Amino acid sequence: MQINTDLLQKLNAAATRNIDSYLQKMLTASAEHGNFGMQMLDHLHEQLPRTSCDDCGKCCNSVSIFSLEYHRVIREIMITWKPERLRRLVQAIFRLELRQAEIGKDERRRRCIFRDDETRVCLVHPVRPFACRIFGLLKTDGKRECDRVKDLRTPETIITENYLISLQEKVLENSESYQPFPGEEEIHFFPFEFWFFRHIFSPERALQIYREILVPMSSPLTRLWQKHAGPTT
Ligand code: SF4
Ligand code: SF4
Repeated sequence: MQINTDLLQKLNAAATRNIDSYLQKMLTASAEHGNFGMQMLDHLHEQLPRTSCDDCGKCCNSVSIFSLEYHRVIREIMITWKPERLRRLVQAIFRLELRQAEIGKDERRRRCIFRDDETRVCLVHPVRPFACRIFGLLKTDGKRECDRVKDLRTPETIITENYLISLQEKVLENSESYQPFPGEEEIHFFPFEFWFFRHIFSPERALQIYREILVPMSSPLTRLWQKHAGPTT
């Protein structure tokens, strides 16, 4: 699938002209969303097991998240990051091509905007999404995506389909869904950038960016999470 490079260039040009207004729109949308659903989300996060791993960051490719998780992340960084750092984040969101990496024949990934490869940390670790929290946990077939993940809880938590569905149902009450491809299923998980563009432009524009830029840059982890979570309807 080819990336729409014209659209990518238009985004780059728009960012050069309007970065402060986009930053303001991002903050306003999340301020308007407010605390809605946040307490429930934090509670669900707390119920998940704590894990440890080597923090190599190999899996920190753009993951798909609920809109509520997007607002949770923005809420956190609005409070803890300085304005100039937020501005740099918005600039980086627009430079999607700088985070794309080839990982094999016809296989690409886009690095997560919140992975700092120099310090090997997740910049939003306390509020990271479910996809990151459950990565590497034991699945019903006895496998895990990464053998270096250790579940610090005994006995280990097993990620079942029912567990994922119940989790989705709770979060979906406070999240949006879209049908990105005509005739296909409605989905609830999109990359962080989709939610960002949905708030600073429009849902239609964000869906175009999703189809024509984000999906062609798709990460294996994104697809994995969608495959395991599946639709709830
Ligand atoms: S889960 Fe595995 S791949 Fe991901 S950062 Fe940890 S050790 Fe690396
Ligand atoms: S949010 Fe954090 S843990 Fe999740 S992919 Fe990004 S950097 Fe990695």
